[in-house]
Amino acid sequence: MDEKAIYKVGDRVDQMCVTCNEERGHVVVSVSKKGSITRVGCPMCGSRVVYRAGTTRHASAKLGAPYDRGRTYRKGQTLLHPTFGEGEVTAIIEPQKMDVLFADRVRRLIHALS
Ligand SMILES: [Zn+2]
Repeated sequence: MDEKAIYKVGDRVDQMCVTCNEERGHVVVSVSKKGSITRVGCPMCGSRVVYRAGTTRHASAKLGAPYDRGRTYRKGQTLLHPTFGEGEVTAIIEPQKMDVLFADRVRRLIHALS
């Protein structure tokens, strides 16, 4: 999508909804005088968020580096598992165990192995 395009209220853009934790079409609720989107609303949960270019359909391409069990992860980090795909660290259980939320469910992985 060309980010220099002129938008108007009511247009639809794809954006990750942090409340739904899902990417979906959002409705533009306000635009700047230059025609760039300033706020979008999620039709599912009704939340209105500041539009951030780059959090749209290319977001997944920038997600975490490949999972490395020798690396030390922290809560909130993202990783790319060869089997389970993209995941986000939701909790550090023990120094070398963590819970990671993948697309289908949470899995416990090891990390920080030296
Ligand atoms: Zn939502």
